[in-house]
Amino acid sequence: MELKQVIKTYVDYRTKMQALGYASYIISWDSETEAPVGCLEERSKQVGVLSEMSYSLERSNEYIETVKKLYENLDSLEDVLKVEIKKVYKDLMNSLKVPMEELVEYSILISKAQSIWADAKVNNDYKKFEPILDEIIKFNKRYVKYLETDELKGYDVLLDMYEEGMTKEKYDKFFSLLKSEIVPLVHKINKLEQSNNLFKNKLFDINKQKEFAEYIMDVMGFDKSRGLIKESEHPFTSGYGTSDVRITTHYYEDLLISSIFSCIHELGHATYEQQCNPILDETLVGGGASMAMHESQSRFYENIVGRSYEFWERHYPKLQSFFKEELKDVSLEDFYKHVNNVECSLIRTEADELTYPLHIMVRYEIEKLIIESDVDVCELPTIWNNLYKEYLGIDVPSDKEGILQDVHWAGGSFGYFPTYALGSAYGAQMLDAMKKDLDFEKEINKPNLKAINEWLKEHIHIYGATKNPDELINIATGMSFDATYYVEYLKNKFSKLYNL
Ligand code: ZN
Repeated sequence: MELKQVIKTYVDYRTKMQALGYASYIISWDSETEAPVGCLEERSKQVGVLSEMSYSLERSNEYIETVKKLYENLDSLEDVLKVEIKKVYKDLMNSLKVPMEELVEYSILISKAQSIWADAKVNNDYKKFEPILDEIIKFNKRYVKYLETDELKGYDVLLDMYEEGMTKEKYDKFFSLLKSEIVPLVHKINKLEQSNNLFKNKLFDINKQKEFAEYIMDVMGFDKSRGLIKESEHPFTSGYGTSDVRITTHYYEDLLISSIFSCIHELGHATYEQQCNPILDETLVGGGASMAMHESQSRFYENIVGRSYEFWERHYPKLQSFFKEELKDVSLEDFYKHVNNVECSLIRTEADELTYPLHIMVRYEIEKLIIESDVDVCELPTIWNNLYKEYLGIDVPSDKEGILQDVHWAGGSFGYFPTYALGSAYGAQMLDAMKKDLDFEKEINKPNLKAINEWLKEHIHIYGATKNPDELINIATGMSFDATYYVEYLKNKFSKLYNL
């Protein structure tokens, strides 16, 4: 068969898979935001049919042969297709290494685990979760064995799945730097007398919060003709291509700050999606390059821009104009300190910018043990609690606020957590590079973030997923990942804030 014909066959398959993917995306968006609870059972049958359809396309002999053929002719393909086929081929070969019966069994196990975990968490009953966690871990260990290559062994297989090119060796280096430089800083701050009562007993009207969110959307340049915002329990961003990017947020009367920053965070993800090159929309290499790269953008906007003094110097008067009574005694300086308050706390998702990576470090250490040693699942809560004591200096009073707090392990995600911390670190390295091209403090003090958006678009977003993370960070900063930028950024910012 002629190559042109092979490409056409591939594109036909891709078009069908994209359409099915789009349908699943809309259904899951609707389920998370608006669908009545009563429809969910019927709906899960329809979702099952859709995923079977897309699975049978991906596993058809014709499709597999087509991808193999294109992979054999990589040099004759044009650039974007070449990158796409490399990626598709790698994923396909990996998925073919695992026996289908095991994958099916595993997906049933995972769907059962969700409710068992939720139940165990509510009832603070780790013992209930233990047996199924053990099964999930055993599967993951087998899974790793199937996928091991000459270069990638053990935990590295999983780390590479979530962030191509990252290995235990690189993460170890990263986290040991955090351990030696950031843990002592956190302990020092923890010993200081602190009061954090600024907003105690204050309530903030939800409609006004929504109006302020609209204002922030404009500041950040969110294009509403290609995106929208709704509410959900846990904020998230989803989308399909550059023309349909959706975020959710949540509003609580007593939690003004958390609403604002979760909104900025999700808008950061959305900016990345909206600023990708639209010609990639119909390919499988549109959207963000990797987990950590996506998180680098959301955290860049949330923390580096959003928790800066200059940003609030510009926008705090606006916030005050919405909440005249509530904020009349809160100065800009107090507000700035408040949004950067460091607290050694138990819950990862509520952690501040400085302690956040330490929560990740705990999970990373435990995942290493889980995948690469014979640690018994019954020992994990004690290990968890000891690590919290060591890194954050706090006692964990219950498993509910300890090892049971995150859904990730119940979902079979091992190797995912470290990308959160890596994302923040990528962001700090990008900041350093950005500062060589523009006056950062001046730009975030302006009415909108146009110049920042432009820089990130040109150096990161435009490439979509056509580059791997290492290539991208090299394009953006002229060098591979280097954690010292992050450590220096954190040390500078928080030593100044706490006069250390
Ligand atoms: Zn995020």
